Amino acid sequence: MKPAAFRATLINIFGNTALFVLKLVAGLMSGSIAIISEALNSLSDIAASVGTFVCVRISDKEADAGHPFGHSRAEPIAGLIIAVLAGILGFEVIRTSVIRFFRHEEIEITAFTLLVPFITMVTKGAMALHFSAVGKKAGSPALKATAVDSFMDVFVAMAALIGIAGAKIGFPFFDPAAGLAISFWIIYAGYRIGMENIAYLMGQAPPPE
Ligand SMILES: [Zn+2]
Repeated sequence: MKPAAFRATLINIFGNTALFVLKLVAGLMSGSIAIISEALNSLSDIAASVGTFVCVRISDKEADAGHPFGHSRAEPIAGLIIAVLAGILGFEVIRTSVIRFFRHEEIEITAFTLLVPFITMVTKGAMALHFSAVGKKAGSPALKATAVDSFMDVFVAMAALIGIAGAKIGFPFFDPAAGLAISFWIIYAGYRIGMENIAYLMGQAPPPE
């Protein structure tokens, strides 16, 4: 792996982990399902970023006696696991959001809660720009895909912001509505990773090296 690409992979892991902790604290303190689902979005980002990191390292490994064609197939298998996890998490949030539509629960939106989606939008926007630049320079499809996901996460955070701002000004259903939208995104992103990896496992040969 090129040093810049390696650094970008690490930035991705640390960035997503920091955002996850921040969102988890804000989500538990406020009880907002939109922010909790945002935390789960970051959790699947962590899984994807660690997966990318580990797999790029494993597939860099030379072929050995037990694996004469190299280790490239490790990557899609990790991708499939991430897709399944994202599906499970997504459906769990959908269930909770639907329950919240009917059974109103008191949530407490503070200045800190409102700040978290802002921080997410700025951080993810910066990460998207960085990954897209490094991805182009290093010719890495994995980094380019990460850039697109980071860019989409800016809009996911915006949905969370609309959800909690709406709840704050007196429309409590905005929060579970945002939670629903975000969990559909988590499932969709996981599904896409899964489909790409199934295609890879079934047909496409690993690169000639
Ligand atoms: Zn993401």
